[in-house]
Amino acid sequence: MSRKKAPVIPEFMQAVVYRGIQDLRLETLPVPSIQRGEILVQVAACGVCPTDIKKIQQGTLPGPRVYGHETAGTIVQVGDAVQGFRVGERVGLHHHVPCLKCHYCLHRAFAQCETYRRTGITAGFEPAGGGYAEYVRVMDFCLPGVVRIPRQNSFQEGAMLEPVNTVLKGIEMLPLLPNDVVLVAGAGPIGLLFIQLLTLRGIQVIATDLLPTRRERAVAAGARHVLDGARPDLVDELRRLSSGRGLDAAVVCVPVDAVVSQSQAALRGGGTVLLFAHTVRGKTAPMDLGVICVDEKTLAGSYSADFTLQRQVARLVFSRKLDVRPLITHTFPLARTAEAVALAASPLPDSLKIIVENTHTPSHTNGSAE
Ligand SMILES: [Zn+2]
Ligand SMILES: [Zn+2]
Repeated sequence: MSRKKAPVIPEFMQAVVYRGIQDLRLETLPVPSIQRGEILVQVAACGVCPTDIKKIQQGTLPGPRVYGHETAGTIVQVGDAVQGFRVGERVGLHHHVPCLKCHYCLHRAFAQCETYRRTGITAGFEPAGGGYAEYVRVMDFCLPGVVRIPRQNSFQEGAMLEPVNTVLKGIEMLPLLPNDVVLVAGAGPIGLLFIQLLTLRGIQVIATDLLPTRRERAVAAGARHVLDGARPDLVDELRRLSSGRGLDAAVVCVPVDAVVSQSQAALRGGGTVLLFAHTVRGKTAPMDLGVICVDEKTLAGSYSADFTLQRQVARLVFSRKLDVRPLITHTFPLARTAEAVALAASPLPDSLKIIVENTHTPSHTNGSAE
């Protein structure tokens, strides 16, 4: 391998700082300095994730913070104690990595692990992902989550590893057999990933969405049937399309309670409803508990990624067996991150996954992007 010349790391960088509800500002921050066991990555691409949107729109955490956690870029600095990584390598990052040793990890409840819950990637302030900045510091406990991007793949594909992982984790929770019939409710970027991955496993997918454009996408992603989520006879139709027996499982990718009860009603006995978009605490909904006990219908939830699936995810994405490129419909430069977040929060008929890209051109504009 040819030795890359160490890149010149500037003292300051551009970063989009969350200052309060709906308040994202392009600011100049010091480039983070790294410790002996850490690496510095120049960000090339960062996906806009619904969980970031929630934090930005609802102010769930105090500012200032730099969000963005679906990050890919180039290693520009490696701490003295780091082994196995070199300057110049193109990598995808995971901002949460479990310890694999604690009580939770031994039960595979990685998202509950204390180490996992610490965010290990930052562009400054309280660590929050940092992907909406030009450089991020990757702390030692997050190094096992750094994945090399093969030459033939793009940074955008590298930035999709984290969302794909969360979807695969959700699918792994479902007790499915080939040819089972599964509803994917909501054909946005996450729903489409569910459709693709379930189809790869030989599952018959029924997809619903309110937007005709997204229903078309669902067909292209492999769904056998697509339905308008608003049709009044939805539950009957779902039962009809699952041999009258009912769905083996349903994945709810929209934070709508009515969709949960419809899914549960359309389920066969012993089937599972998986919640994937109900990420806000404190909301309650009435439920017939006999359906859970007597009909043995499971109500499950899945949140965040599973570190042990990382290799499988990288293989799927980088081999393009799971081609994520058609999902990426819009890219925005770093300075326009607020617009990227706004579009992801209120999608257009043709918008799916939104990526913030770093072109590394100086963009010292007016300092406010919102
Ligand atoms: Zn995410
Ligand atoms: Zn742990």
